[in-house]
Amino acid sequence: MNKGRNMNVPMLDLVVQYKPLENNIKEIVDDVFLSKKFINGPEVTKLEKILAEYCHCKYAVGVSSGTDALLISLMALDIGYGDEVITTPFTFFATAGSIFRVGAKPVFVDIDPKTYNINPELIEEKINENTKAIIPVHIFGQCAEMDIINDIAQKYNLNVIEDAAQAIGSEYWGRRAGSLGDVGCFSFYPSKNLGACGDGGIVTTNDETLMDRLKAFRQHGSTSSYIHKFVGGNFRLDTIQAAVLLEKFPYLEEWHKGRQKNADYYNEHLKDVVITPYVESYNRMIYNQYTIRTPKRDELQDKLNESNIGNAIYYPVPLHLQECFAYLGYKAGALPESEKAANEVLSIPIYPELTNEQKDYVIQSIKKCIK
Ligand SMILES: *Cc1c(COP(=O)(O)O)cnc(C)c1O
Repeated sequence: MNKGRNMNVPMLDLVVQYKPLENNIKEIVDDVFLSKKFINGPEVTKLEKILAEYCHCKYAVGVSSGTDALLISLMALDIGYGDEVITTPFTFFATAGSIFRVGAKPVFVDIDPKTYNINPELIEEKINENTKAIIPVHIFGQCAEMDIINDIAQKYNLNVIEDAAQAIGSEYWGRRAGSLGDVGCFSFYPSKNLGACGDGGIVTTNDETLMDRLKAFRQHGSTSSYIHKFVGGNFRLDTIQAAVLLEKFPYLEEWHKGRQKNADYYNEHLKDVVITPYVESYNRMIYNQYTIRTPKRDELQDKLNESNIGNAIYYPVPLHLQECFAYLGYKAGALPESEKAANEVLSIPIYPELTNEQKDYVIQSIKKCIK
């Protein structure tokens, strides 16, 4: 009866993922040491090729993080002082932080309360002559409404930068995340579905000129040694990170399927207890997060903490209400759906290696608290 008492379900368990790959990963890291090609090694080029193809794109450019993927995309698209970029406030900080860092102004648009993605109906009213781009975020691993967003972008001649940090392998009407805008930005932060052993990221595009610019910006804007056409930065992906990612990549689809299976199981058992994730029929969701929603969120979080069940609030404070963006003038109530979601969402463990006992324990604990 008290079987669950000693159970412990972490939010993510990267050791169970690592164990079967341990020998191969150690070997490949050793190879990088022996080759001494720590910077711009052949593994980086190989990973770029494989991930471009995986994301249905012609090109991919490895970079130092998902944050830097966003930053370098804005730089390569020549977005800066005086420009405005439209995005969602219900995302990780980097999305808006990158806009600020190139000198542009983040303009926040409220979300669709069902998918938590930017509400495309509310974008057009925020466009003015300074607007240069839209950054939709494929939040939790579900693509934003890209056809509508692209139509708006085309009408006003704006660039579209996908923040696909949580969405490697996600699909929208059969098209992959990263191929749905001008550029796609991915993160290899360890908790993403394809995680490195440190920081890393990649930018995808079908535009050759843009790819050349991204490659230049990643190395201080140089197009050949010591010749600088632009001012870029050091935004390179380490060879060791690329090597580890190449070892992990063949398992990615299997891991996605594991997450989807877990999500199906949770959906079935939790749908009458809390609001379970809503996925549009034409979307392939890869569940970087499995996020439930309930007005009793804080109570539920306490209960899960007591029961040793990992959980997290993504995101507790929408970006328009962050202190660093106070100068933009948003007040509480300005973007009500984002603010309401921030008070009601809770993400629970969804990683592919979860056992049935663990999932049942999570479900039972939630039911005990809510019913
Ligand atoms: C993780 C994440 C980023 C940033 O990626 P890093 O690799 O941590 O810099 C950006 N946007 C979103 C939506 C993310 O989830």
